[in-house]
Amino acid sequence: MAVTDHVDLATFMEGVKRRNPHQPEFTQAVQEVAEDIFDFMEDKEEYHSQQILRRIAEPDRVISFRVCWEDDAGNIRVQRGWRVQNNNAIGPYKGGIRFHPSVTESVLKFLAFEQTFKNALTGLPMGGGKGGSNFNPKGKSDREVMRFCQSFMTELYRHIGADTDVPAGDIGVGGREIGYMFGQYKRITNQFTGVLTGKGMEYGGSMIRPEATGYGAVYFLAEMLKHRGDGVKGKTAVISGSGNVATHAAEKITQLGGKVVTMSDSGGFIHDPDGIDQEKINWIKQHKTHRRGRISDYADEFMGSTFHPGKRPWHVKCDLALPCATQNELDADEATALIDNGSIAVSEGANMPTTLEGTHRFKAARIMFAPGKAANAGGVAVSGLEMSQNSERRSWKEEELQQMLLDIMQGIHTRCIAYGDQGDGYVDYVKGANIAGFKKVADAMLAFGVV
Ligand code: NDP
Repeated sequence: MAVTDHVDLATFMEGVKRRNPHQPEFTQAVQEVAEDIFDFMEDKEEYHSQQILRRIAEPDRVISFRVCWEDDAGNIRVQRGWRVQNNNAIGPYKGGIRFHPSVTESVLKFLAFEQTFKNALTGLPMGGGKGGSNFNPKGKSDREVMRFCQSFMTELYRHIGADTDVPAGDIGVGGREIGYMFGQYKRITNQFTGVLTGKGMEYGGSMIRPEATGYGAVYFLAEMLKHRGDGVKGKTAVISGSGNVATHAAEKITQLGGKVVTMSDSGGFIHDPDGIDQEKINWIKQHKTHRRGRISDYADEFMGSTFHPGKRPWHVKCDLALPCATQNELDADEATALIDNGSIAVSEGANMPTTLEGTHRFKAARIMFAPGKAANAGGVAVSGLEMSQNSERRSWKEEELQQMLLDIMQGIHTRCIAYGDQGDGYVDYVKGANIAGFKKVADAMLAFGVV
């Protein structure tokens, strides 16, 4: 008799935990998907007999390497770099690179796993991957960052390629770092290809890529509200983070007539009851990205605002919440605080910012809750469009790309409804996103046989 994975969820997760010891973020991400997929697979014998869930929860490969570089004082520094190539069933591996001291193999495996379903949800042909290093760019000079990026790419280049694996930015990796890495790739290979996305406009980048994740998260939020006959206009929003995703989410909320009252960084959050308008958002962008400053300085700059050191913003009363900083930054108690304060919708700009228990509370309270793999897919979608433009050796206009981003986010919303509509007016977006993303990848894997 064939061996099948007709086991219960608890037994399946025991196996995942046994095979991935000390990897809590990865097992958390697998559990969140498996909770929905188990029910869906119940009567689908082929998924069981082909061990699809077990295979999908095992990355194609994890590459780990040493990254040596020299700091400005002449000291030799040693970091670890990784690329997790999770699944290329529907296209080349695609996913960002993160530079942050908190990066571990577990964090990158969780991100690559999530990325696989997210990319499938966009409808574009992209597999899932993620990479990074425990390097901390904060406080480093431009030259130090350049030397690190060059050393990182000197190993990474042999594992990536325009039709193999196409990395992008993520936490700690913006235009500056992509430029240094692309320059080194080009120098080593003597090829100018679309091997990275998030590139500068001068050398193959796409319009609206920087804005795409934050704007997309708000487009998705607006779609959820529209589905209930409501809109962003007149609503108060609480946002965490003050990086690429957070500032562009704030910008789009403001453009749609909402009021953003908080932003944060790893030092704490600022609360501005008057609203963080476009002028203030521009100041934050300059201060955080170009001056590499702290969000606490906002309270000195703008009257009437306050800084709350070491705190997260989820106890501030709001209609809409957008966690846009990092994973596990919104726990169960904070979810309850949001619900008790009357929040009606949450859109995850970051990847897995809500803990598993927090997610369960949002679902139990039946508020609109968009998981990151659906809500923040706008960034990778425009990265996919950057790949297409690079292949065609042309650039599309900003208006065309804005429309494509909006269409893609609406398409993701429709796919979530297809599998998440509970038939009583409530849409379980987590379930919808998990099943729609899983099904596309799983069906491609079935077509390939056992590989
Ligand atoms: P940035 O590096 O531009 O900004 C990250 C922000 O989050 C900063 O404000 C940073 O504060 C804060 N932050 C980072 N780590 C922590 C922490 N441990 N605790 C509290 N705050 C923290 O990154 P992005 O905006 O690009 O990414 C934010 C999130 O969005 C991540 O989860 C990322 O994976 C996800 N995402 C990003 C996409 C993109 O296109 N950029 C696409 C899809 C998802 P500080 O300055 O103090 O470090």
